[in-house]
Amino acid sequence: MVLAHLGSSITRALVRMSSATVVDEKALGDCLNEITRALLQSDVRFETVRGVQANIRNIVSLDTLAAGTNKRRIIQRAVFSELCAMLDPGKPAFVPTKANKPSVVMFVGLQGSGKTTTCAKYARHYHRKGFRPSLVCADTFRAGAFDQLKQNATKARIPFYGSYMESDPVKIAVKGLETLRKEGSDLIIIDTSGRHKQEAALFEEMRQVAQATKPDLVIFVMDASIGQAAFGQAQAFKQSVSVGAVIVTKMDGHANGGGALSAVAATKSPVIFIGTGEHMDNLEVFDVKPFVSRLLG
Ligand code: GDP
Repeated sequence: MVLAHLGSSITRALVRMSSATVVDEKALGDCLNEITRALLQSDVRFETVRGVQANIRNIVSLDTLAAGTNKRRIIQRAVFSELCAMLDPGKPAFVPTKANKPSVVMFVGLQGSGKTTTCAKYARHYHRKGFRPSLVCADTFRAGAFDQLKQNATKARIPFYGSYMESDPVKIAVKGLETLRKEGSDLIIIDTSGRHKQEAALFEEMRQVAQATKPDLVIFVMDASIGQAAFGQAQAFKQSVSVGAVIVTKMDGHANGGGALSAVAATKSPVIFIGTGEHMDNLEVFDVKPFVSRLLG
């Protein structure tokens, strides 16, 4: 994953700063400039990068540090905590529970983002944890969507609901919930339709499905390779439905991953999983601190 490039560039900047004879304003400035460049090259938005730089400056006030304090360590810690803060909106996402009523999770995202595949991976993840998940195909826009979901669900041995006849996604979603609830599912996952662009009709449809099904969690699925477009796209989805979590797919590809940081900033929601391949098992739980540690090597 190319996010590793970002990590190694930042690590290089920190090592260079650490090996400077004295850690003065110039050494800190050079280090921050290098980090800024690395973040911008990874498609993180300018506003976010500027904020990061200002925050590190605030934490590391060289003038006020007592003599003998380890400035290098303080700068390294500040960089680590700022990278974590970028990925952590401070509010955890809803986690499905095996309560009396089934948890309802709705997936949204553009076509091709990996939504249908990720729904099945997500179901499988919870199946392994002892849940009885199920899938609803509320995508009536794309021909073949139901077949794809059916195929994935069958592969993952997950019950599913959909219709070849009904063209109203709201009706399918409501009927799907009712049917799967009766069958004893405790986690119902609704796949909605995606379009190529952020069209008004897509958002209206999503809003209606959400209104009718009242999901506990709406997950925005984003392809890691969309780069700079991530912020606008994530924000547009957030404005239409109440996105509560993000899954970034195709992290195994050549994307530079900065889009993930932007999606967190735009939706104020955490990344909960990353997709790392086409197979059903290629879904990794996303934890900020180990991720940033790994990133910085
Ligand atoms: P949807 O239109 O958003 O429902 O997208 P699909 O689930 O149909 O996925 C589009 C393509 O991306 C398919 O070929 C998937 O196999 C592929 N895909 C989904 N997630 C990943 C991932 O994490 N890594 C890779 N390499 N491919 C993925």
